[in-house]
Formats: sequence, C-alpha cells, structure tokens
Amino acid sequence: MILRIIFAALIAVLPLAANAFEVFACEPEWASLVREIAGEDIQVTTATTAFQDPHYVQAKPSLIAAARNADLLICSGADLEIGWLPLLLRRAGNAAIQPGSPGNFVAADFVRRIEIPKVVDRSGGDVHPQGNPHIHLSPRNIERIAKALGERLIRINAGDADNIQNGLDDFLMRWDEATGRWEDEGESLRGMRLVAHHTSFSYLADWLNLDIVATLEPKPGVPPSGAYLSKLLAQLQASPPAAIIRTPYQNEKPSLWLAERVGTPAIVLPFTVGGTPQATDLFSLYDETIRLLREQQR
Ligand SMILES: [Zn+2]
Repeated sequence: MILRIIFAALIAVLPLAANAFEVFACEPEWASLVREIAGEDIQVTTATTAFQDPHYVQAKPSLIAAARNADLLICSGADLEIGWLPLLLRRAGNAAIQPGSPGNFVAADFVRRIEIPKVVDRSGGDVHPQGNPHIHLSPRNIERIAKALGERLIRINAGDADNIQNGLDDFLMRWDEATGRWEDEGESLRGMRLVAHHTSFSYLADWLNLDIVATLEPKPGVPPSGAYLSKLLAQLQASPPAAIIRTPYQNEKPSLWLAERVGTPAIVLPFTVGGTPQATDLFSLYDETIRLLREQQR
C-alpha cells in the first residue's frame, strides 16, 4: 500500500520534472524555432518582442531571473546582443548557459554570414563588426540552425531525445516543403529594387535575389542624417525603388520622408514572429513577408 502511494506520488511528480526544461531566447524567431522542435509545452522566455530593437535591450530583473533558471540560451550571436547579453549573463550567474557551455546556443555559428566588413571600425558606429547578425530571414539558415539546435537539445535534455528527434524531423519536412513553395512564389520578386532602413533584410534579399539598392542608415546602427537622406533622395529620384522597407521597431520618419519625395510606398515587414498579427510563427512570418513584397510589385 505504502509502495503504491509512493509510486503514485512519483507519477504525479514526473511530468512536472519533464516539463521543467527552461529556455531563454534572445529573439522571437528562436523562441518559435525551439517550440517547433521541442514542443509547445516547454517553458520559453523571450527577451525581446518584434517591436524591440534586439541590438539595444535593457537587462531587466525579470530577464535576469529567467536567465538564472534557464537550461538553454538561444541567441543570434555575431555581436547582435553584445550591448546587453554579457551583462545579463554576468548578473544571472548561471554556469549552464555561459559562453562555451552546451547550454549556450549561438545561431550565427551555424550559418555563413554575409556583409563581413573588410576593416572593422567601431568608432564609425558600425554595429555589425562580425558581419550581418540578422540571419533568420533565409530558410536555408533556419534549416541549418534547426538541425544544430535539435542536436544540442538532445545533448542537454537526453531524457526527451525521442520527442525532440521527432519534432525536428517533422519540422524539417514541413520547412523543406514550405521553402519550395516560397521560392516558387518569390521567383517573381527577383531583381525587385528596395531601400531598407537598416540591413535587417540582407539574408532575405540574398535568398530571393532582391536588390536592396540603399539603406537609410549610412552604416548599420548609425541613424540617417538629413544630409545623408538628401543625398539618397537625389540618387533615387532618377530610378525610384519599388518600396522602402523597415521592421516594426524602426523609426518610421526617415522612411516616410523619403517615400513621399521619391513617390514610392514605405512598408513595414513583420521581420520576426509577432511583427504583424498574421506572422504568428516562423511559417506565417515567411508567408507574410513574401505576400507583402508581392503586393508592391509594379
Ligand atoms: Zn543590425
């Protein structure tokens, strides 16, 4: 009888223990990816929303507390979070997720980065000295990162290995199918001329062969000045782009100023999960991005 009670108590406790795996994701796209692979019932804290610039985040007490309890941290890396994550990790004091630990997963380590500067000049204000860290808008990058993330999850949460492997296999199958569809839909966008606020969409452009002819920032992270915008205006008036694109968190003013004068629409792309009401997961993020760009075709 006593054994039976102990057994019943164990059964009651076990699911809790299995669910206790906690993830700290720096950006919404990684929170979505980890849920795709490990299932919806794992606990994920996301440090930023689609309406926050991931370059600049405050190491709030609630984030420090979440990092303190996390078994896995997943971030873009390539210096995207250099302004806030090192401080947050120091304050959290959680050995499991410090750089170099298996619980510290850096997505950018698994992809080929673009826009790596030949000469790094931090004094010039460039916030991308390691190349472009906004790696999630190429489905090929997501595929590579998903595979590496699946392996890492199994390594640190071996008790859930079968579930994770199944989740990964299922995700990769659906992702591959969706990628083929997006490439078909995106075929008509080839060569589309765009202006972007920041180099947020470079991997998307690289993948779909879009032509980002200029950015509103003279260098990544350097706000557009009036003089720089006037110079751009003079350049673009001769051959206006199809649209001026920005993320939900970027200042709308420079886009709207230029759009009005060049006579071209300024549009917001979701950029990450949650950026528009329709972009609720990684799949709908890509669906929406391509749909919005196709709307701008002339
Ligand atoms: Zn950036």
